[in-house]
Amino acid sequence: MSRGGFSAPAKKSLGQHFLHERSFIDRIVLAVDPQPGDRLVEIGPGQGAITLPLLRRHGELTAIEFDRDLITPLMETAEGVGRLTIIHKDVLAVDFGKLAGDEGPLRLVGNLPYNLSSPILFHALAHAAVIRDMHFMLQKEVVDRMGAAPGSKVYGRLSVMLQAYCRVTPLFVVPPGAFRPPPKVDSAVVRLLPKPAAEIGVRDPQRFEQVVRAAFGQRRKTLRNALDGVCDSARIEQAGLRPDARAEQVDVDGFVRLANIE
Ligand code: SAM
Repeated sequence: MSRGGFSAPAKKSLGQHFLHERSFIDRIVLAVDPQPGDRLVEIGPGQGAITLPLLRRHGELTAIEFDRDLITPLMETAEGVGRLTIIHKDVLAVDFGKLAGDEGPLRLVGNLPYNLSSPILFHALAHAAVIRDMHFMLQKEVVDRMGAAPGSKVYGRLSVMLQAYCRVTPLFVVPPGAFRPPPKVDSAVVRLLPKPAAEIGVRDPQRFEQVVRAAFGQRRKTLRNALDGVCDSARIEQAGLRPDARAEQVDVDGFVRLANIE
């Protein structure tokens, strides 16, 4: 039984690895540091490992959970602790814009199902305008990719797409033993702060996505070859980049300049 939550068999298909080590739960709550008036939204509350401590601290929270079997026990555990609203839905079908309404931006928190971590990140990015910040637990390998700098072996599409729209700060590593059942790999908690609109240089998000995807689709090729049919050499040079460079050498601003050229 996790402290503050309840116990139920984990479903592998839903990426259920329940956090039980108090010290890591405390560190997540400390990192989120909820303030009066904040609108906390947890993705995948599971058995309530993070939900209950956040509720105790903040008094109010909305959680999005796909597993029907977890909802009644979670509501029962939260009784008397705070005001918990559970949305029983696939998080990818949740419109964060509608959820935010005009009552202020959301603060997302979640120990994410690892099989869905990239789709959830991109779904959140699409709603970045209504999100104040995000604190997510993911596979450490994914967090390494999210925060990577050019030249790193793990610098790629995820790094560029996230860093163009958010400040990415890896916070701490969590070992497999902190979860039941333990995953096979280390996990890490990361903070994402969406940039203010004025700081995001991307003119056309779809074009940006297309250029970044093509450049890293064949990461061993030069930009000239990888971007064949997407950007010609003249445009690559116009963006201040070398056509014989590889995508992994180009920084986020370089991709923004390249995608912005008409
Ligand atoms: N927050 C809990 C904890 O830290 O112990 C559970 C984390 S577990 C890694 C991931 C949670 O996400 C599970 O509760 C799972 O049922 C839920 N989940 C999986 N797929 C989901 C989806 N598409 N939408 C919403 N929740 C989902």
